Amino acid sequence: MSNNFKADANMVLLSLAQYIDDCQLKTLPVIKQPPMSELIHALDLENLIDGGGLHGKRLESFIKNYLDATTKLHHKNFLAHQISVPHPTGALASFIDGTTNNETSVYEMGPAASAIEYFMINWMLKKIGWTASPVPGEKTGEGLADYSGGVFTHGGSLANLTAMITARSAKFPDIWKDGQPSNMVILVPEQSHYSLKRTSGILGLGEKNCIPMPSDKDGRVIAEEIPILIKKLHAKNKEVMAIVGNACGTAAGLYDPLDKIGNICNEHDVWFHVDAAHGAGAIICEDYRYLVKGIEKADSIIWDAHKMFRTPALCAAILVKDYRYLDTAFTQEASYLFHDKDQNGVDFARRTVECTKSSLGLKMFMTIAAMGEENLKDYIGSRTELARDAARYIDEQNDFECPVMPETNILCFRIGDNDEKQLEIRKRLLEQGNFYITSTKYKDVRWLRCVFINPDTRIGDFKSLIEEIRKISKVL
Ligand SMILES: *Cc1c(COP(=O)(O)O)cnc(C)c1O
Repeated sequence: MSNNFKADANMVLLSLAQYIDDCQLKTLPVIKQPPMSELIHALDLENLIDGGGLHGKRLESFIKNYLDATTKLHHKNFLAHQISVPHPTGALASFIDGTTNNETSVYEMGPAASAIEYFMINWMLKKIGWTASPVPGEKTGEGLADYSGGVFTHGGSLANLTAMITARSAKFPDIWKDGQPSNMVILVPEQSHYSLKRTSGILGLGEKNCIPMPSDKDGRVIAEEIPILIKKLHAKNKEVMAIVGNACGTAAGLYDPLDKIGNICNEHDVWFHVDAAHGAGAIICEDYRYLVKGIEKADSIIWDAHKMFRTPALCAAILVKDYRYLDTAFTQEASYLFHDKDQNGVDFARRTVECTKSSLGLKMFMTIAAMGEENLKDYIGSRTELARDAARYIDEQNDFECPVMPETNILCFRIGDNDEKQLEIRKRLLEQGNFYITSTKYKDVRWLRCVFINPDTRIGDFKSLIEEIRKISKVL
């Protein structure tokens, strides 16, 4: 058994190492999408599930076929979705997590994993400028009442949901007993991520009570107009449960004026939530910190490590300025989990929607510990600078345009002014398989969209993409 495991693990490891090398050589297409029926056949799924025996040679050929049909994030022309190109050491963390299967909702099920999660939560809290949680067993000084807290979740969407549940319990502490009032609304940026609307649906507020705030021509929230909106809503007997700011938005990657929104939330005693799923890098990079000025005024923040932090998915966190709101967000109790225990650590279960949870902190920790914080900052900065260089390059082309100068590593651009044409260009690019980009609606029109997230992409690669798009455009 153990010999099998060692031999198989070695083989898988060597295959993956070769895979990364092959992706980086650019000889493979970044994307190809055979029909599902073909893949189910090619991967020999039916035989394998019936007969078993997925090790040795059979495992080797399965891995080969599997890797062949993957979308190649390690390819430098991967310019599509906001998901990390995982650092190999982070990938090893996923393997360790999968092997040990220690989980972090109760301390006794994973002391090392829980300690690392606690440590990484504190690392993020300190970066924001909040007070880290005291570590059980460590001597602490005075003033323990006011500190922050957090928990890792399986993704940013779940973190947003958790944040809104926390805001709701903070405003209506008896909600788990009494049910919720029918007049609650959430104010969100026009460019908010769809998980917030979905959250409104899940919470029973109704999507129509997830209300977009006034925004400027680029889609940033106009903070000065929020008080007027709140007044109007009060006149209709509506209660604002939370106000959300973007750091940054999904379509074009712009940051809302968090400092101003934070002041207004404080004045009106409204929960301020910052969605930093994509743009949390600006919190740790001195050069970009101006983009999130005032973020410490938030009551809750979400932060995805599986986007700009090179960490394999899933890995996100919800961070709350006053830990007590997170601890009382879910007041349902499960007696086999929540009983007074004399123990050396912390149970995270009371803070999450999930019960069983992976060793998420381990993945983020091992990634950053391998890279070093300075290299991580350089990587995040270099991707933002690349997006800005690409925008300047577009500005020099007569046939292309950008809607806005990027603030982070997301760039929208287009050739000509026909929406359908942009979609057709993307379709053909993906069929050719040399470049993988997305498209988005922004300012009411259709754009091509690049996310510069692969550490190997250079401006020359973007220029080649522009050439390719020109060629396709000519024959359309
Ligand atoms: C990606 C993203 C989310 C959702 O996070 P997942 O980890 O994909 O669930 C939420 N908000 C913003 C701004 C995002 O970019």
